[in-house]
Amino acid sequence: MVDLTRRFDVLVIGGGNAALCAAISARRAGASVLVLEGAPKFYRGGNTRHTRNMRCAHDAATEILTGPYTEEEFWKDLLLVTGGQTDEELARFMIHESKDILNWIVEQGVRWQPSLGGTLSLGRTNSFFLGGGRAMLNALYRTAEELGVDILYDAEVIDLKIEDGMFLSAALKQPVGGRTEVRASTLVAAAGGFEANIEWLKQYWGEAADNFLIRGTPFNRGAILKMLLAKGVQEIGDPTQCHAVAIDARAPKFDGGIITRHDSVVFGIVVNRHAERFYDEGEDIWPKRYAIWGRLVAAQPDQIAYIIFDSSVVTSFMPTLFPPIAGATIAELAGKLTLDPAALEKTITEFNAAVQPGTFDHTILDDCRTEGITPPKTHWARRIETPPYLAYPVRPGITFTYLGTRVNRQARMLMKDGKPSANMFAAGEIMAGNVLGKGYAAGMGMTIGSVFGRIAGREAARNARN
Ligand SMILES: Cc1cc2nc3c(=O)[nH]c(=O)nc-3n(C[C@H](O)[C@H](O)[C@H](O)COP(=O)(O)OP(=O)(O)OC[C@H]3O[C@@H](n4cnc5c(N)ncnc54)[C@H](O)[C@@H]3O)c2cc1C
Repeated sequence: MVDLTRRFDVLVIGGGNAALCAAISARRAGASVLVLEGAPKFYRGGNTRHTRNMRCAHDAATEILTGPYTEEEFWKDLLLVTGGQTDEELARFMIHESKDILNWIVEQGVRWQPSLGGTLSLGRTNSFFLGGGRAMLNALYRTAEELGVDILYDAEVIDLKIEDGMFLSAALKQPVGGRTEVRASTLVAAAGGFEANIEWLKQYWGEAADNFLIRGTPFNRGAILKMLLAKGVQEIGDPTQCHAVAIDARAPKFDGGIITRHDSVVFGIVVNRHAERFYDEGEDIWPKRYAIWGRLVAAQPDQIAYIIFDSSVVTSFMPTLFPPIAGATIAELAGKLTLDPAALEKTITEFNAAVQPGTFDHTILDDCRTEGITPPKTHWARRIETPPYLAYPVRPGITFTYLGTRVNRQARMLMKDGKPSANMFAAGEIMAGNVLGKGYAAGMGMTIGSVFGRIAGREAARNARN
């Protein structure tokens, strides 16, 4: 039984990677720590449950990483994907700190495994969690409990008392016990983004957001973020920027996870509701492009698109939970997709006619391309001509949003007047926008949570002691 009448040194809101890293780090620094996880115990851990890997800089190959990934290379990758929309000082700092995380996270009980094969080729850059995100979380929870961190589930924080940039208390709502006021000397906000709040997404995306599918937890509704911004914390990031991929349109509204993501775009073409292509499917290698397709589909009529390919490539990519829809002819396939058969036949005929001879290799920017059509397919273009013809319907799958709270190197929140908050820290998705202005490189969500979680916990503990 957690004694909620006492005053804790550190209150952590959230129950995912960032929260647990903060809680462990604060406890190891000698603080009393309470974690409030809004989800029930079975669903604890937010989006972290769905993760597989983390991107950290390292100077040499390790037991599980195939070669070095220097700080400079990591920085260049980040610069490329964000198009420069990042806080360079903070991003470089995070990258430097990520080196140490590879060992620190193991000290907290997490285990690595060699890279999983597949379409993202991350064996050199990203460390994979043995057993996936759930196993990673279980290890962190076990360590936190052993260290004496108090954890409450089904503990949704519904209000924050903040005066002049100083956190005073939080109100939490529990199914049994109702509303309770919790006091603490410092706050670590690690409650995720607002991706599961469709009404909030609609403010920027309009009615289109009704057709978005949310890949992760339904509990990240952004309530804590909204309260912090309303109470004087400086915001960072463009509210329309998020990580969004193309996922199967048959996936559930929430929590479909990794097995609904489609990585078959480069092996075929993608058409919209009018059976028209709308973007170069072969623009760049898939690890650099998979995260743009959610936004591309979001911009199409009814926010739906169809990846069309033929049976010659069906074993070339990772299968997903849902089988492809098949037709013996293009017209039959179109009928099953409720597309205009004549329009789909025209698109595929024109595409096939534009394909130039080349040597196919999806691991490099090969010379298989189209000529004379718009948009072009600049690599991996091959004719779609081997029945049965196949398709996956896809919708925007929102992973997480980037709008967040501004922080400094101590993970301390900055107030609207630019001054650091007296006792409030943030880590993870809720402050991801400091590093990710737009774009994404696989594995960075967990880097942001681990690095800033660890720092936030340590600094909050130090703050509480003073
Ligand atoms: C399908 C999928 C696969 C992914 N794969 C990867 C990957 O392999 N590598 C990678 O780096 N990133 C990946 N990501 C992104 C990654 O999950 C996130 O960046 C990361 O988990 C964020 O950690 P976090 O602790 O900030 O948030 P979360 O893990 O989402 O935790 C937020 C927590 O806050 C709680 N919460 C929310 N509101 C309240 C409230 N009012 N009161 C109390 N608690 C509240 C939630 O219940 C939740 O426990 C993936 C995401 C998804 C959806």
